[in-house]
Amino acid sequence: MELLIMIVVMKVGSPEQEIERIEAELQDWGLTPEKIVGKHKIVMGLVGDTASLDPLQLQDISPWIESVLRVEKPYKKTSLEYRNGEYSSVVVPTPSGDVAFGANHPVVVIAGPCSVENESMIIETAKAVKAAGASFLRGGAFKPRTSPYSFQGHGESALELLAAARDASGLGIITEVMDTADVDKVSEFADIVQVGARNMQNFALLKKVGAQDKPVFLKRGMSATIDDLLMASEYILAAGNSKVILCERGIRTFDRKYVRNTLDLAIIPVLRSLTHLPIAIDPSHGTGIAKFVPPMAKAAIAAGADSLMIEVHPNPAKALSDGPQSQTFEGFKNIMQELSVIGKAVGRWSESTVSV
Ligand code: PEP
Ligand code: MN
Repeated sequence: MELLIMIVVMKVGSPEQEIERIEAELQDWGLTPEKIVGKHKIVMGLVGDTASLDPLQLQDISPWIESVLRVEKPYKKTSLEYRNGEYSSVVVPTPSGDVAFGANHPVVVIAGPCSVENESMIIETAKAVKAAGASFLRGGAFKPRTSPYSFQGHGESALELLAAARDASGLGIITEVMDTADVDKVSEFADIVQVGARNMQNFALLKKVGAQDKPVFLKRGMSATIDDLLMASEYILAAGNSKVILCERGIRTFDRKYVRNTLDLAIIPVLRSLTHLPIAIDPSHGTGIAKFVPPMAKAAIAAGADSLMIEVHPNPAKALSDGPQSQTFEGFKNIMQELSVIGKAVGRWSESTVSV
């Protein structure tokens, strides 16, 4: 079966009853309409079998249909066309209220250690990053390490510690899942489930996180093209979960002498022109060096990033993973103050979570 992806754009002011009638008719045609209510217009994304279908035939269903367009890109539901040019919001409930990621919202800051090391460090970090203005706590329970002899994370028990830190701070939590077998467990605890760079093309994992309800933070593979990232995202959307946040975290280039990775900030305007999904930047893995993080975080906000992920540790010198790129509490507080200047200049900053 050849899959068809088209969008039906409704005229402004289309009556609700007519939209329902069209939806029902499209279903009779064997199509699955997905209604997307935009600011100005309603559009319906259609997935189905093309064998007997002609866009012009669809157009004749109702005089309220403005146009029927084929989505030409290889990534369909991820494309900006699929939402008729409107950026989506990924809204995540947290104990402190809903937090929205997206082009039309303030920048959302995610901060915390590379790994969850013990209860006191994760709770202490949660409180510190919350006080400085972060909305989410990050922390790895399952760690993808280059060496099998490096610290692998505390696994399931670390999920409980994250839950304790969530209760203690009111922050939402985000943590990585590496294995399909752990998806149910991780999504039960996490407010956002992370798929790391090394798993960006683990298609079994993408399908599994696409079949659960929690938002997915998808990191760009270190050798992945932008189309590779968008196709990886398409796996998640095609499996039924449209709450995806795309994250640039640095790619491998020829020069690794001074930085761990090359942070591709040009991806921000590029993705903005290709997809409706929110865009995050991780300058910690992107540079690998703590002192290079503040300028790149500021640049990311100036370039239009919707979210930042920053590694913070109570004592970076003693961190079990990624100490050299982690901020101290003081360092993170300073970054947040600097970011607020840029964030306000581009109209993307909310002080509501800042209590210092
Ligand atoms: C992480 O966020 O700790 C991590 C391992 O990131 P990445 O997958 O980008 O390397
Ligand atoms: Mn890390």
